[in-house]
Amino acid sequence: MSLLPIRLLGDPILREETVVVTEFGDDLRSLVDAMFETMYAASGIGLAAPQVGRRERLAVVDVEGARYALINPEIVLAEGKEKAEEACLSVPDVYGVVERATRVVVRAQDVTGAPFEVDATDLLARCFQHEIDHLHGKLFIDYLSYLKRRAALAEWEELRKQYQGTVRHLKPVTAGEDGSSTTTDD
Ligand SMILES: [Zn+2]
Repeated sequence: MSLLPIRLLGDPILREETVVVTEFGDDLRSLVDAMFETMYAASGIGLAAPQVGRRERLAVVDVEGARYALINPEIVLAEGKEKAEEACLSVPDVYGVVERATRVVVRAQDVTGAPFEVDATDLLARCFQHEIDHLHGKLFIDYLSYLKRRAALAEWEELRKQYQGTVRHLKPVTAGEDGSSTTTDD
């Protein structure tokens, strides 16, 4: 299986609304598998379909072994507020503090179409909110204050020069090659 190129800030698909998934077959399963593989290769904890150039309403998440494929997810309950630093695989090496709910209940479907709910707190809840935002064209930088957002975008203008266009190609993961598995980019 090959890794999917990751779309970077500036690619219009990151700002588009996704489309509800209605077919739960082998194509969907293959896409979910490729997204997990791509997310792990990028040392991320979440990846949404628009980040790999797809319009399906789905995201994958793995926060400390809590692994979910969220098809057509929606937040049905949110409570509490907490600020913490976030990053995004589509805006590599740019960080910003974002206020999020500390607990969310997400309703979604799995790859077979079966509905489920997950009650998440802390980092998992934050990751769910970040990924579900992606499915509606929203990025974490949108939450930053005007000045912080401007600084983040200026930083990105410099960083993006290392990429060709708005696509980032990953190298396959080699076991033991990289000890820095503590990054929380999503
Ligand atoms: Zn992201």
